Amino acid sequence: MTSPNTSKVLILLGPPGAGKGTQSRLLEQKFGLVQLSTGDLLRRSIESGSETGKAVESIMAEGRLVGDDIVISILRDRMRDSDCAGGVILDGFPRTLSQARALDQLLAETGQQISAVVSLAVDDKKMVDRISGRFTCAGCGEGYHDTFKPLEAAERCDNCGGSEFMRRADDKAETVAARLIEYREQTSPLIDYYSHMGVLANVDAMGPIEAINRSIEATISSRS
Ligand code: ADP
Ligand code: ZN
Repeated sequence: MTSPNTSKVLILLGPPGAGKGTQSRLLEQKFGLVQLSTGDLLRRSIESGSETGKAVESIMAEGRLVGDDIVISILRDRMRDSDCAGGVILDGFPRTLSQARALDQLLAETGQQISAVVSLAVDDKKMVDRISGRFTCAGCGEGYHDTFKPLEAAERCDNCGGSEFMRRADDKAETVAARLIEYREQTSPLIDYYSHMGVLANVDAMGPIEAINRSIEATISSRS
């Protein structure tokens, strides 16, 4: 019998624009965990021109959810990489009940357990504001926002000094509306699912990035 794996598995749950990516990156540094974003993995598969990438490109551009089978298989493969053995932060997965069940099964196989599910709550207006101004550094992936987190020096990444930035294709207002509907219909039922499991922590995600980060860290520390 293998001994139970005590590495952390954190899940960040929340609508688009709740700050899952931003908070994951902060937690990654603090707790030595690996951020695992299914959105990033899917975008990478599009960039690589793979069959999966071709299959998901238009779905993502329309703001709809990619099929469970594809996402679950991408996540499963990534979780098996050796750098994930010390613990992961799942950012953007699971997003449907069947993905949540698939994750339970995967963790049962690896002897891991969900440490906490942090549900980030924001109001609709705020989500749209956050999404519409955001961009990332093409070099290091650091996230920025025209209003809430501008570059310190004009045209240079604070983190790596790079000067190339990207805006996501699905961050347009029309697509954001579709993404919010998907969240409400498909993903928000997971709040109840994890609440029943006894692992849910609600965090108000309306304040400044650092304050939200402190609430999340307090939640995580109180559970380990
Ligand atoms: P956000 O949380 O801001 O919407 P993500 O990068 O997590 O951004 O997701 C972008 C898109 O990638 C989603 O709109 C969806 O098309 C696809 N996607 C990401 N994760 C999943 C998932 N777990 N299941 C289905 N589709 C996903
Ligand atoms: Zn950078």
